[in-house]
Amino acid sequence: MATFKGFAMKKIGETCWVEKEVPECGPMDAIIKPTCVSPCTSDIHTVWEGAIGERTDMILGHEAVGEVVEVGSLVTKFKPGDKVIVPAITPDWDDEAAQRGFPSQTTEPLGGWKFSNFKDGVFGERFHVNMADANLALLPDGLSDEGACMLVDMWSTGMMGSENANIPLGGSVLVIGIGAVGLSAIAGAKLLGAEDYLQQVPVQFLLK
Ligand SMILES: [Zn+2]
Repeated sequence: MATFKGFAMKKIGETCWVEKEVPECGPMDAIIKPTCVSPCTSDIHTVWEGAIGERTDMILGHEAVGEVVEVGSLVTKFKPGDKVIVPAITPDWDDEAAQRGFPSQTTEPLGGWKFSNFKDGVFGERFHVNMADANLALLPDGLSDEGACMLVDMWSTGMMGSENANIPLGGSVLVIGIGAVGLSAIAGAKLLGAEDYLQQVPVQFLLK
């Protein structure tokens, strides 16, 4: 396959289908064929509200499960044909921020978020993953593609929020906004030992 099709942001407020050349696979990288993708509100903010600024013919999407098509010569953990979970955040792990524990903020603010931000995303027949050994995970037996796709951004964002909150055992947690990420934060808080949690507290209440 020399070229592939993808669903892209043509410019702020407009989407389109594009045809591009399959990206080159560097020595530590992988090329993936998605088997399941999920649209995110970030895709909507990106296109319709121009949340990250103007992008031209950039393929959207950052939530995917897929099959490895090609790996670079230095990749040791994955091979073509492997089913993999692809996180929304794919940092450069040799960056100082990643090594200090802030992988989302490598090189620049939100620099670890590459798909549909700094490079083509996952809504195409092929996409590129940097540092494949560090950024991919094998899909475990018994976990569906659709189920795993819920982990790559929604669950991991909520879970990381709970981790960052340093919840003490038996602590109380307030989660504002009970969408998919909020529910993941509650589940994460319970896993980390929180005892009480409030749901759906109106923002007006907090502002009084
Ligand atoms: Zn997302």
